[in-house]
Amino acid sequence: MPLVSMRQLLDEAAKGGYGVGAFNVNDMEQIQAIMGAAKETKSPVIIQASRGARQFAQDKYLFHLILAAAELNPEIPIAMHQDHGNSFETCKSAIDLGYTSVMMDGSLKEDGKTPASFEENVAVTKRVVDFAHERGVTVEGEIGVLGGVEDGHGAGGTGLEHVTDPDQAVEFAELTGVDALAIAIGTSHGAYKFSKKPDGSVLKMDVLIAIHKRLPNTHLVMHGSSSVPKDLQDVINQYGGKLKETWGVPVEEIQLGIRNGVRKINVDTDNRLAMTGAIRKVLWETPEKFDPRDYMKPAREAMQKVVAQRMTQFGQAGHAGDYQAVSIVEIAKGYKSGALSTQPLVAAK
Ligand SMILES: [Zn+2]
Repeated sequence: MPLVSMRQLLDEAAKGGYGVGAFNVNDMEQIQAIMGAAKETKSPVIIQASRGARQFAQDKYLFHLILAAAELNPEIPIAMHQDHGNSFETCKSAIDLGYTSVMMDGSLKEDGKTPASFEENVAVTKRVVDFAHERGVTVEGEIGVLGGVEDGHGAGGTGLEHVTDPDQAVEFAELTGVDALAIAIGTSHGAYKFSKKPDGSVLKMDVLIAIHKRLPNTHLVMHGSSSVPKDLQDVINQYGGKLKETWGVPVEEIQLGIRNGVRKINVDTDNRLAMTGAIRKVLWETPEKFDPRDYMKPAREAMQKVVAQRMTQFGQAGHAGDYQAVSIVEIAKGYKSGALSTQPLVAAK
């Protein structure tokens, strides 16, 4: 199957009432781990690359590795997504390269740190939507500002400073025509999200539910949604690591989100923890080893296990064969004719 539009993948997820994990990649082993899990669980999947990943791996390496994944797994729908584009130019460069989806994170200014005004966010996101839709490419926007910093991107802070306002979310979706909307409900990027198991005072699922009620047909996106399970933290610390105690977003909260319009769930930290723990274990137990394959193979297996678990928990497992890929050219026609709506259905307050 060629790379598919993320819009198609999320529309199908909405029909089926499940969520789709969006997993970050920087290298071949991570892509293989995701594809291994997708194959094992028969899941459609979103593979995403941040600006940092594109720089680390170089665009062409990363893009062709993902094309290889599509070529080797024709039965799996794969959307290739730019995570946290900081400007029109970043999104355009991903689209020119062949990505089938981009996130324009206009919640921050181009520096990727300073919160932008609502008007600035609408203007840059709309510009990306116009360019992308003409080419059949999906756009995710963000309203409200997430906490933490990852790959040099983020406003920092706790994630509670700029929680999304439901009225603004409606206005933003109407003005921009985005296909998917990332909202801020108290989550943060990185490993240190919460200092205890989160409750309603720090993880605002009520805000998410309020937004879904107003925008029942808009695909919502949860960022910073690793669960940071204790067993993965423990492996790292058992073999010489020094992670401080921390809590992520419990899977049952994500599942509550999925029942309330969440269709894309971003997961990165859990995979990083799994790989690093596996590598530490090999090097700790067998310090005489020096062949990278001796630790990259267990690292890849550890990540595959976490990804497969998330795919099952998010409900995407078993749905890879539900549909045929619609070409990007056809998707572009759909946007033009209005067959693919870009105006959200808005429910009364
Ligand atoms: Zn994010």
